[in-house]
Amino acid sequence: MVDLKGQMQEIKPQIKQSFDEILDSCGFIGGPHITRFQDNLASYLGVKHVIGCANGTDALQISLMSLGLQPGDEVITADFTFAATVEAIALLRLTPVLVDVSSEDFNISIAAIEKSITPKTKAIIPVHLFGKSADMEPILAVAKKHNLYVIEDNAQAIGASYKFSDGSLKKTGTMGDIATTSFFPSKNLGAYGDGGAIFTNDDKLAYKIKGIVNHGMYKRYYHSEVGVNSRLDALQAAVLNAKLPHLDSYNAKRRNAAKKYQALLTGVAGIELPMTLNSCSEFSCDNCQCHVFHQFTLRIKNNKRDALATYLSSKNIPFGIYYPIPLHKQEAYASESYSDTDFPVTNALSNEVISLPMHTELKEDQIHYICNAIKDFLKS
Ligand SMILES: *Cc1c(COP(=O)(O)O)cnc(C)c1O
Repeated sequence: MVDLKGQMQEIKPQIKQSFDEILDSCGFIGGPHITRFQDNLASYLGVKHVIGCANGTDALQISLMSLGLQPGDEVITADFTFAATVEAIALLRLTPVLVDVSSEDFNISIAAIEKSITPKTKAIIPVHLFGKSADMEPILAVAKKHNLYVIEDNAQAIGASYKFSDGSLKKTGTMGDIATTSFFPSKNLGAYGDGGAIFTNDDKLAYKIKGIVNHGMYKRYYHSEVGVNSRLDALQAAVLNAKLPHLDSYNAKRRNAAKKYQALLTGVAGIELPMTLNSCSEFSCDNCQCHVFHQFTLRIKNNKRDALATYLSSKNIPFGIYYPIPLHKQEAYASESYSDTDFPVTNALSNEVISLPMHTELKEDQIHYICNAIKDFLKS
């Protein structure tokens, strides 16, 4: 599914040099590699504050903690996402309100958000799923109308952008009040262990978040609120500093792989291809709305997904099923307030989706091999 070796070989000398510096200084926590990375990422994204933390799940939890919400306050998020998003809400004794997604791009449905708003709703967490920005303009409008916070879960779409109707472009993770990301090794910007970050343009929230990640401490050994211990460490920051300048080219390689899949699978009966946007394949894509293809996810119609999965396994072709069970059906997150008929898209997706290998090292012949196998199976 993922091949991390090529990237690693390319940046190994630089990483080794940084690791040597860190080993010699024994500065494993904090230090210049962390501040450099936070500054570099802030200027790449065009956001005022970047605060490192231990992982993308913590980033979501800490963001929610910074908003001063009360138990029972409702937070709306997508039914079709990785469980971390809803987990952070539930852990804080906030009430998750799962809503259906759009069949166009698998991202949170605006109509479903609007239907689920109550006087208790305090925040929306759109997830930029599989590398494609959620439709932020109407989400921000709904949030503004109802005075709700927006936290973007940008774990799968770092480097992607979104075009507003006035033509302005913004990177994902810079449009809401707060955004979170993950540097899990297989994400588009991956560390060599766990890591995460929180972004905001709001000075007050940034101040609060910097305290929360460090035991609620704003002045040394004065704890003004309950915080957590969540840090990005210096070794991971060194890896990320080496990778960040290549992020656009890594994402362009993913887009190129997606383009090839798309070309080979267009018109094949029984497949629905993912939305592509005006997929720029160039290194520099300052002027388009970029999809960064964290995953390349097909819908397989006619109940053939599981049989295709078995067939791909027999051909030694890796695949992923993201996500096989909608969150509203998970034991931990089921609730009597949900009606299964409110989730037609998520329910269909969980039976139809299959994600193909997607990474920066995919070769043309591998893509051909994978697509031919899929076509052979669907023909039979
Ligand atoms: C990976 C991921 C997370 C969690 O990130 P971790 O670093 O693994 O904690 C959260 N949300 C989404 C959508 C993710 O894909």
